[in-house]
Amino acid sequence: MLGQMMNRPLRVADILSYAEDIHGDEGVISSTVEGGIHRETYREMAARSRQLAKALFSIGIREGDRVATLAWNGFRHMELYYGIPGIGGICHTLNPRLPAEQLIFIVNHAEDRALFLDLTFVPAVEKLAAHFPKGMLYIIMTDRAHMPDTSLPGALCYEELLAAEDDGYEWPDLPEDTAAGLCYTSGTTGNPKGTLYTHRSQVLHAFMVCVATQDAMHTGRRILPVVPLFHANAWGLAHATPLAGASLIMPGPHLDGASLFDLMEAENVFSAWGVPTVWLGLMAEINKRGRLPEGFGEVVIGGSAAAPSLIEAFEEKGVDVIHAWGMTEMSPIGTLTKLEPNMQALPLEERLKLKSYQGRRAFGVEMKIVDEDGTRQRHDGKAVGELFVRGYNVMSGYYRSEESALDAEGWFGTGDVAAIRPDGFLCITDRTKDLIKSGGEWISSIDVENLALAHEQIANCAVIAVPHPKWGERPVLVAVPADGCTPDTGDVLRHLGEHLAKWQLPDDVIYVDSLPLTATGKVSKLTLRQEYADHKLPGMD
Ligand code: AMP
Repeated sequence: MLGQMMNRPLRVADILSYAEDIHGDEGVISSTVEGGIHRETYREMAARSRQLAKALFSIGIREGDRVATLAWNGFRHMELYYGIPGIGGICHTLNPRLPAEQLIFIVNHAEDRALFLDLTFVPAVEKLAAHFPKGMLYIIMTDRAHMPDTSLPGALCYEELLAAEDDGYEWPDLPEDTAAGLCYTSGTTGNPKGTLYTHRSQVLHAFMVCVATQDAMHTGRRILPVVPLFHANAWGLAHATPLAGASLIMPGPHLDGASLFDLMEAENVFSAWGVPTVWLGLMAEINKRGRLPEGFGEVVIGGSAAAPSLIEAFEEKGVDVIHAWGMTEMSPIGTLTKLEPNMQALPLEERLKLKSYQGRRAFGVEMKIVDEDGTRQRHDGKAVGELFVRGYNVMSGYYRSEESALDAEGWFGTGDVAAIRPDGFLCITDRTKDLIKSGGEWISSIDVENLALAHEQIANCAVIAVPHPKWGERPVLVAVPADGCTPDTGDVLRHLGEHLAKWQLPDDVIYVDSLPLTATGKVSKLTLRQEYADHKLPGMD
């Protein structure tokens, strides 16, 4: 028997309308590309998003059209996050750090009709425009005073487009499975693949994030997404924060430790979200100044494994660490380490241990681990296998791809290798493609990296597999020395040897000035593996 409640569709625009109505004085504070700080309440943002909706119509955008953005975290990007799906369009966020050929592939694959871009990216897009779809509309996200001379055909000015419209607009009802957002993710092989979010998945994901991060998600709190809007909805913050009535502090293009410290202090940021590389930079600044930014109480670390040494550094200064795991294909949040009061009461060492795991599932996410034959493994904290997920926020197939992304039971294979403990904590040991198999035994690159990062003379590192004639593969540690340090390899290996078996120890340590990063700011092990594919290990002729 069916129930008899109204079946109102979930709509992304309702989040902003709610924020306007209930949390109208909260809003988005942006460090702008033009310079200076811009402040906009949710009341103003909602009105401007309705003006934007009308402006989209007047330039010819219609339901189902893909509209691309190439922009930092800022208020105009947020308006696009609501205005585009609000009219039934698809907000397609492009990652500006991708190589030109990938951007060209993605824009053509998506058949984008229009591109909204920050001033920063005008020179780069001028070079790419000839390869983009014919008739593409270019809208530069600035005001008339800052409009550049540009060769982009028919370039329009964002603020002028908005100024020509009033805000009298009602968001249309759309089936909740209507596509709302599109984000491509790069695999190790082949072309990037698109995840096509729905209104339903975006709204439910916003609820999931609000419930899972309640210390940050309420009126009066200020949240800093260093994770970009161009990467998986800034981990859901673009939707969860207005829903909860907290304010967003947008860093714009300024992501170095000193700029983040200053912005956080000036704007009283409580919770900051981003990848480990960013937090290593902020931690160096915190150590330099000998104090935390005023008001800083929580850091969400995800995107790649948070090393226990980084977690400890924040925790001992009184910053609560939430270690999060997820994927573009999951909107992206899957698990978080929000500790309950009884866990918070544990001794520091045990708390740190729990936080070094990737956390427990958010509401709506189900997880299983399977062996190579697809047989389910026990959640006993010991059995390791590939992690599969399903849920309201999980993709069912890649955009315009014939290939199934799901297993026979309808679960999505993450490509991550993990164990799940009886208490629900997820422990990721590797990516399937980053695994090191030496003499038939697996070595977890994440375990070795975490230990290496605890060495005081190592600032950052990655462990990769290098081919070996006898063992198949052997681990090699590629390390960035801490400022002014020249680590001694024997000493580093002795340090690792305190916790690892002899066969798990890297065969070599290579020192580099910096590690290659992916477009989403993670260490690119693929680049390192290619670079050191012919590396001669000590003792090999
Ligand atoms: P992306 O879709 O670019 O966000 O990448 C998702 C992948 O990043 C996951 O499949 C994991 O391999 C990795 N990842 C994300 N968060 C974590 C984490 N906390 N620990 C370890 N790996 C992570």
